[in-house]
Amino acid sequence: MYPLAFFSWLFGIQKDNHELCLAQYKSLAGQAPLFYLSMISAVVALAYVSMEQAPAGLTVVVPLVLILVDLVSFHSFTIQRNLNRNSYRSSVVYRLHTTVWSALGLGVLHAAWAISLLAHADVAAQSLIVILLSVTSLGAAVCLLQLPMAAMGFLVSVMAPLAVFLWLSGEPGHGVAALIIALSTGVAVFVIARYGQDYSRMILKQREVGAKKSEAEQISRLNRIMAHQDSLTGLANRRAFLNNLNMQVDDAKSGLSEGLAVGILDLDGFKLVNDVYGHPAGDRLLKSAGKRLTDLFYSRVFIARLGGDEFGITVSGERSDADLVALGERICSAMQVPFDLDGRSIHLGGSVGFAKWREPGDSADVLFERADYALYSGKKNSRGGVTVFNERHASRLREITGVDRQLHDADFEKEMSLVFQPIVSLGTKRTVGLEVLARWNSPVLGEVPPDVFIRSAERIGSINRLTAVLLTKALDEAKCWPEDLFMSFNLSMQDVTSSVAVLKLVSIINASGFDPKRITLEVTETAVMNNYNQALGSLMLLKNLGVRIALDDFGTGYSSLAYVRTLPLDKLKLDRSFVVDLVQDAGARAVAGSMIEMCRSLKMDCIVEGVETREQVKILNSLGCQTIQGYYCSRPLKAHDARAFVRAERQNQQAAQAR
Ligand code: C2E
Ligand code: CA
Repeated sequence: MYPLAFFSWLFGIQKDNHELCLAQYKSLAGQAPLFYLSMISAVVALAYVSMEQAPAGLTVVVPLVLILVDLVSFHSFTIQRNLNRNSYRSSVVYRLHTTVWSALGLGVLHAAWAISLLAHADVAAQSLIVILLSVTSLGAAVCLLQLPMAAMGFLVSVMAPLAVFLWLSGEPGHGVAALIIALSTGVAVFVIARYGQDYSRMILKQREVGAKKSEAEQISRLNRIMAHQDSLTGLANRRAFLNNLNMQVDDAKSGLSEGLAVGILDLDGFKLVNDVYGHPAGDRLLKSAGKRLTDLFYSRVFIARLGGDEFGITVSGERSDADLVALGERICSAMQVPFDLDGRSIHLGGSVGFAKWREPGDSADVLFERADYALYSGKKNSRGGVTVFNERHASRLREITGVDRQLHDADFEKEMSLVFQPIVSLGTKRTVGLEVLARWNSPVLGEVPPDVFIRSAERIGSINRLTAVLLTKALDEAKCWPEDLFMSFNLSMQDVTSSVAVLKLVSIINASGFDPKRITLEVTETAVMNNYNQALGSLMLLKNLGVRIALDDFGTGYSSLAYVRTLPLDKLKLDRSFVVDLVQDAGARAVAGSMIEMCRSLKMDCIVEGVETREQVKILNSLGCQTIQGYYCSRPLKAHDARAFVRAERQNQQAAQAR
């Protein structure tokens, strides 16, 4: 077996440095014809010079043989250029080895022949032979420069016997010539060795530069992909979605397409999964949701993950509202199939909002905003449905944008006021507390309903500032109430999901001097469940202050009793929707009854909201309800009216007791 490693070391062939070996091989292949040309011309010249003094065998036969050997060697080198692709690496190294061997062999052969010619030549011919051989050999060695061992081996194998022969010949001047040849050969060997080192360094540098370049190319390719791809789901990301939307809108404007529709899908219940099972589980769920979405459509529908649990859908072509609803329902049904999470079956839902491109003025931003509004309004009215943006939404959206602008510039201290709605005990028929409700009288828009401006404040990021102003005002007023009355105050989602905002509330309560035990803070299920861990921390902090916590609008959100039980709640406020059908609907009575019963067993107060009629009160009484709130007792009242209401109620009761 060929001892490749040993000879590689001996010949200075860096067999593990493939780039170097390949570069050497390529250079040699290019210069091989010149090498053999030098050799053949040396043979012809030497034979010619020696023609008259040496025998014909040496000047005709041997040169012909040598030329034949040179031609065969050249030919075998050229066929070696067509290397086998599979064994490319080892083939290159092997060829380099053969080149070193051939150079040595050819050098020895030519030197031996030249020396035999010298033996027959007179002094003048000898000089000519030495000069011719030295010059041509030097030229030939230069052709092998890239493989230093071959160049040096060849040069030494020719020059060393020549120098020895001259030294031993005893002719005057030959000794000096031998020394000169030895010296120049030494210098040439040194230069070749240095060149070899520089050459391999240069190739190494080239390799590094090449590697850096390909690394940079790979990074920039990755960057390009990442800039447009969502790393979690592999879908297009928000940027790619908006780019695509802009392009499609441009096409629609210029008549290149028949139109388009934009959809936004929001997963219902996803945040809860994230909070309860952790983010890695949430990530896996999002991946599966993305996969389900892509599996649903093949063409003319572009899907992207917009962020969080929101996905964007662009549908090309003219579509009717019914088409979009059908398409949205397919999406929602796909999301309703339980997801498997480590053997657990997770039930989610989806809500989709669609907006259609209608006229050239509809920009991509406008379409997106409309789809978002359709989604929001669908989620507000029903869970898991499809909503297509319509004229009603359009006029509502126009109002909202006006509200946002005005609220942004509003002076909260001046323009915001409070009304108070009594919360009444059915047993004692006395007001036990007052719920604080905000009112905004905008100098431009007039009276704006609280659910409209509260949502607007949340949207424009002013809710924490607004809550602080309202709470300060409310506490100022509550200080004037009889001591057995509590104050119930509404918090927004962003009030309980920001620790800075919660600390601000704590400081306002502390600064007011009002007994925290007389304060109830109302939070909605959605606010808590959307960011469970953060909300839980905030509620615990407030609870430690002595404040009571009520879950507002109970029954309209997740209604997940398992999680409700884990919250530090003191009260549940049963939503108005349970009361509306109380009189006609036995089912509604049963639900309300079991809610009231559940509160009793969880040792929580239950306040039934929206009570409007005597019949409702009767039924609630029979169901064991203890506290109610609603127009039946009183509409929300201005501060001094609320005080007068409570005063009058107590005076009436005292008068009744006195009778
Ligand atoms: P909410 O917390 O559920 O407040 C009860 C709403 O029901 C009030 O509407 C109240 O006027 C109304 N209401 C009370 N009794 C009856 C009844 O018997 N029948 C009917 N149909 N309605 C009744 P309002 O004042 O318009 O408030 C709407 C919502 O705005 C509130 O719902 C609350 O979510 C929000 N809100 C009001 N004030 C504030 C506030 O200061 N901060 C925050 N974050 N939200 C507030
Ligand atoms: Ca409330």
